[in-house]
Amino acid sequence: MGLSEYLFVFAFFGVPGVLGAWLARTRGKNPLVWGLLSAPFPFCIFILWFQKPISEVPGYFRKCLTCGAVYPWKLDSCTYCGAKLEK
Ligand SMILES: [Zn+2]
Repeated sequence: MGLSEYLFVFAFFGVPGVLGAWLARTRGKNPLVWGLLSAPFPFCIFILWFQKPISEVPGYFRKCLTCGAVYPWKLDSCTYCGAKLEK
């Protein structure tokens, strides 16, 4: 195989695999399992993309102490009940 074929294989399986693994990590799931699933089945990325973690994932998602909803880490108040983050 030439270099261009390797690049094609990487783009075809590597990119969705890496993307799936990264998304899985941000959602508190097993990156290895989801990376391997996403490589041959890129629709797994869409499943991960729209799925919120069920528990807090430090650096990515925070769990609201008031209503229990999970919202993005960078926000300082809950997107569901508006409860402010205690620091
Ligand atoms: Zn809340």
